[in-house]
Amino acid sequence: MMFALARLTAALFLAAIVCPAMGTALAQDAGTVEDKTLPPLEHPNSASTPARELFGRKTTPDPAAAARSIGFYSRGCLAGAVALPINGATWQVMRLSRNRNWGHPKLVAFLERLADKAKKVGWNGLLVGDMSQPRGGPMLTGHASHQIGLDADIWLTPMPDRKLSREEREFMSATMAVREDRRDVDPNVWTHAHTELIRVAAEDPAVERIFVNAAIKKALCREAGSDRAWLAKVRPWHGHDYHFHVRIFCPPDSPQCEPQPPPETGEGCGHDLDPWFTDAMLHPPPPSTEPAKPKPGLTMANLPPACRQVLMAP
Ligand SMILES: [Zn+2]
Repeated sequence: MMFALARLTAALFLAAIVCPAMGTALAQDAGTVEDKTLPPLEHPNSASTPARELFGRKTTPDPAAAARSIGFYSRGCLAGAVALPINGATWQVMRLSRNRNWGHPKLVAFLERLADKAKKVGWNGLLVGDMSQPRGGPMLTGHASHQIGLDADIWLTPMPDRKLSREEREFMSATMAVREDRRDVDPNVWTHAHTELIRVAAEDPAVERIFVNAAIKKALCREAGSDRAWLAKVRPWHGHDYHFHVRIFCPPDSPQCEPQPPPETGEGCGHDLDPWFTDAMLHPPPPSTEPAKPKPGLTMANLPPACRQVLMAP
């Protein structure tokens, strides 16, 4: 237990950097079909302007740059982003109003590859949630990570056999895969194809880490059979019960990309998961009713200097 707790502490430390559910813009939150152009900032050049306000206003990628992931997954930006096309034979992009289907070309290639492999293991196709903004960087809603074009959220809902409408992509909900008591997956929702999908994702050599809810990790441990090496890459984190989060390695063309420390050793099953199923973890105290003070957020000075050029490019 102590060992497991020490691991959890390490996991918590790492995950400040990961993908906390920050309250807004979760995978299942509805989008909008209204025009959501943001008003210009009064003081865009002020040193205290949160970087999320600046990057959140960029609607196109940095044009001339070769692709480069700059900085860390939760503190950086992305040059030369490419878009995952919103429709593929085996995937569709959701919540188009967020304009977050951008990534390093290696992430786009990975998703296309995964969509194809998923189909072969009985998953009808991918519904892709947030990747990165056109120039990466911090976001106005949702994530701490996803800043350098190497993270993607994939819904735990298989793609239907038809092309979804614009409205469906904004308002359709992802499927909750965890049982109401939070101790296991929901047997009415979970299928072996869910396990296979996450397995083929984890087995891809480009993938550094996958984050899932602890109840999902428990199910994966149970269903993995004798071929278990891939489980080491799949790590529990809060939320991640409607979608899973895939993080790929820093690409070789990105010398300023800062790698994530490797995961704890071992497959992380059995008692390693115990700390996630304590009462305190399963039933945290309700959030205060006081309105939360907005967090100041990262400024441009907190990001790698190269992100200034990415931001300023036409
Ligand atoms: Zn994510």
